[in-house]
Amino acid sequence: MSDMSDMSMEETTTQAPLKTSKTGITDMTHTTATSNYPATGDLAPHPTGADNEVLLTGVLIYGEGEPTDVLIRDGVIAEIGADLSSKLSDGGETIDLNGQVLLPGLVDMHVHLREPGREDTETIATGSAAAAQGGFTAVFTMANTAPVMDNPSIAETVWFKGQHTNLCDVHPVGSISKGLRGEELTEFGMMADSDAKVRMFSDDGKCVADPRLMRRAIEYSKGMDVLLAQHCEEPRLTETAVAHEGDTAARLGLSGWPRVAEESIVARDAIMARDYGGRLHICHASTEGTVSLLKWAKEQNIPLSAEVTPHHLLLTDERLETYDGVNRVNPPLREQRDVDALRQALIDGIIDCVATDHAPHGSEEKCCEFDKARPGMLGLETSLALIAQIFVLNGDQDWRFVARVMSERPAEIVKLPGHGRPIAVGEPANLCAVDTNAQWIARGEEMASKSRNTPYEGMDMPVKVTTTLLRGKVTCRDGQAQTSTTAGA
Ligand SMILES: [Zn+2]
Repeated sequence: MSDMSDMSMEETTTQAPLKTSKTGITDMTHTTATSNYPATGDLAPHPTGADNEVLLTGVLIYGEGEPTDVLIRDGVIAEIGADLSSKLSDGGETIDLNGQVLLPGLVDMHVHLREPGREDTETIATGSAAAAQGGFTAVFTMANTAPVMDNPSIAETVWFKGQHTNLCDVHPVGSISKGLRGEELTEFGMMADSDAKVRMFSDDGKCVADPRLMRRAIEYSKGMDVLLAQHCEEPRLTETAVAHEGDTAARLGLSGWPRVAEESIVARDAIMARDYGGRLHICHASTEGTVSLLKWAKEQNIPLSAEVTPHHLLLTDERLETYDGVNRVNPPLREQRDVDALRQALIDGIIDCVATDHAPHGSEEKCCEFDKARPGMLGLETSLALIAQIFVLNGDQDWRFVARVMSERPAEIVKLPGHGRPIAVGEPANLCAVDTNAQWIARGEEMASKSRNTPYEGMDMPVKVTTTLLRGKVTCRDGQAQTSTTAGA
């Protein structure tokens, strides 16, 4: 989402990939072979670095059945059953999750962790902590960094920093065009073959508007079986636009971003996917018309997937009445009929999954005139509570639905092994636990993110992620990310 057009876009970087360090980071790369995990694809497993045992007691798996225990050994679910405490070795850890809902670790296909370039607003470390507190075990961080993530060197730097932080798998997204300029394709193959194993490419923040370049990208991507994620925004229709084009923007005197700017690109790319194949993904679907186009594409068996953000599922442009820059986002908050269509589309599988588009910004970029505010909102730490509120707590959908749209489907779309897996013996212990009796109030100041731009400030959150495990390692405990200081490690 957020454009970074005012930032320098030099393609050179002075940062060397961390893989050359002697800190043991190389031992955590994809290429390290271990035999602890079931074969789940070309991405080799990552060892946890500890032959630990953790016993989760009294969980409701997918929120179903009777409370049960889950024993995790060496990063893998070893046993599921009643009262497994006698099976726990000396030195193993018990986490009492009395009646909490156990879900697969969440997967977010769309975040902006701002490193390299804007470490004042977020870093791989703070973004990973926010992810762990939100229940995520894998995130994909977009390429609109400074310099742009358009080469293997930067992608590997991000990947190794994520592994070094070890709170969440941080997968770099390579840009489709060099420097996000929309003119020349990047070397997909070199990034896909790098240690970062880049498996998704996107110019997000900008649309690949040139149809000829998009066609070339699709044809090029097919040989490597990588995913292309499109930020659908016909730029000629959104010049100067800051808000959804409708009654609210007209009344408030804000320049309008029409639905057709999104839908025209969704339609074009759906037809391209029909004729040229490839694997295309629509970022942050925001309109009723986009839902109709996606429905048509699915009916034609066109290989096109789509995501929707929590804010587009909850908020409307009526929020703009206050002119508070925190509500500026791209694509903009739309109208209730769009919200209703997006919700139904997610339930029906027309939209595949939820992605947060977590977009940290500094206060000086948000506390200003609305049309000068940078577009984007925090999302990682509030998304599960909001999806639960919109779909589950009213009895409409169950926790299996949440597992599907926030873990299983995104992992499938990106072809990410080891995540979005069933909660079953022998599977990697990428898990999160949700306390459905723990209300909390969203406060930007209390978030693990380095930025504060949450549109949910002061809002009651009905459920809380208490515990997250990444291959058996506890990354969030009692709602707190286990950073090196909190973990005492
Ligand atoms: Zn975007």
